Amino acid sequence: MSDTPQSSSPLPEALEITSPAPLIDIGANLTHESFERDLDATLGRAQHANVTALIVTGADLEGAQKAQTLAGRYSQLYATAGLHPHHAGEWNPDLEARMRELHRTDEVVAVGECGLDFHRDFTPRDVQQQAFEAQLALAAESGLPLFLHERDAGSRMLEILREWRDRLSNAVVHCFTGDRKTLHGYLDLDLHIGQTGWISDERRGHHLREFVADIPSDRLMVETDCPYLLPRHLPAKLKGRRHEPALLPWIVRELAHWRGETEQTLAAQSTQTAASFFRLPMQNTTGQDT
Ligand SMILES: [Zn+2]
Repeated sequence: MSDTPQSSSPLPEALEITSPAPLIDIGANLTHESFERDLDATLGRAQHANVTALIVTGADLEGAQKAQTLAGRYSQLYATAGLHPHHAGEWNPDLEARMRELHRTDEVVAVGECGLDFHRDFTPRDVQQQAFEAQLALAAESGLPLFLHERDAGSRMLEILREWRDRLSNAVVHCFTGDRKTLHGYLDLDLHIGQTGWISDERRGHHLREFVADIPSDRLMVETDCPYLLPRHLPAKLKGRRHEPALLPWIVRELAHWRGETEQTLAAQSTQTAASFFRLPMQNTTGQDT
């Protein structure tokens, strides 16, 4: 119950933040069950916030198939197809063949989410590494860029990527949360970096403020990782809600502040970087033909 009059706007008042330039959310888990009932409305709110293209993360076979189906249904959506390190134990020749098929479709623009997670260690590390290297081979074979996940595994990830780098086109370390040294290790390998609202998390993310400006503009992309990682600097009205792509401008605002640049600059440059990285048609990223 509320005494606030019903607004005709599709968004709650505190969600009325629109990016000054079109944005691409490079990490949206829209196959998550929490989006099942209101995906159209979610995408409408994203459009309203000027989030004009989204990469739907596929983190296991079923998720990747769903992401590809969604990307076929909505022109602003694209998909990744891979096996997250948490699920690395599922890797087998049949799954590999089905991932390879997905990578050949028009809707799938990257191999992943794949990588190493030594924070939770849900799967033994040698099993994670096997599944990861098998997916590096698929990326080398297809020429697609990689969408990488790494938590507390920077030094091992760097060792593996140094061995593989020459065979890979491009790779983004999504939701980078490591230290400055690891960041520069990735940058030295000519990798891209994805940033979420992690930087606004006073419990574990404020260290990123010190060196987020080290990431060159043409290597930085932005993402929500929704419904996970709701930013912690949101106004009170938005606390405790589900994270979704319409909140990406809040993340851009925070990143721009710590990088010492305008939201307009960061939005425009990250979109250009993402469109080129994922090889997206520009009319789908800016909402207009160019
Ligand atoms: Zn991840």
